[in-house]
Amino acid sequence: MDTINALLENNQTFASGHEEEHLDAEPQRHLAIVTCMDCRLDVSAALGLGNGEAHILRNAGGVITEDVIRSLAISQRKLGTREVMLIHHSDCGMQKITDDGFRRELQEATGIAPSFAIESFGDLDEDVRQSLRRVRSSPFLLHRDAVRGFVYDVDTHRLREVEVGE
Ligand SMILES: [Zn+2]
Repeated sequence: MDTINALLENNQTFASGHEEEHLDAEPQRHLAIVTCMDCRLDVSAALGLGNGEAHILRNAGGVITEDVIRSLAISQRKLGTREVMLIHHSDCGMQKITDDGFRRELQEATGIAPSFAIESFGDLDEDVRQSLRRVRSSPFLLHRDAVRGFVYDVDTHRLREVEVGE
């Protein structure tokens, strides 16, 4: 609660330092980014993106789930994005758990087996390729060619592209 209260104060300062403006809801760069929720990945800063320029979809691992496809379908069909950038990163928490282990942990703690897939992974590059394949094979998306995958190094802040392979 203390943290949220502090952030509310930050927002007061932020809002008073900015002129009122109305940006278009369509991202100016016609780009959607799917990435991990990791707190060390400041996507806008790392890519030089400004307000109103791109959709940024995040979850644990930057996994292409049904819900990410749902958002990408809205992004492309209703808000004009045409390119998709996938960003995984070094030292990802999803490499430190296993599907079976975390599923068992949840079930033992709650008595409820989760209905969702855990989607942990071992090999970063292979998981980026898996994500690329999921986007490219989705019938719900209009633009499936301009999809590129990267790994972000959380220590050096550098992006490395992952070759697709077949
Ligand atoms: Zn991560």
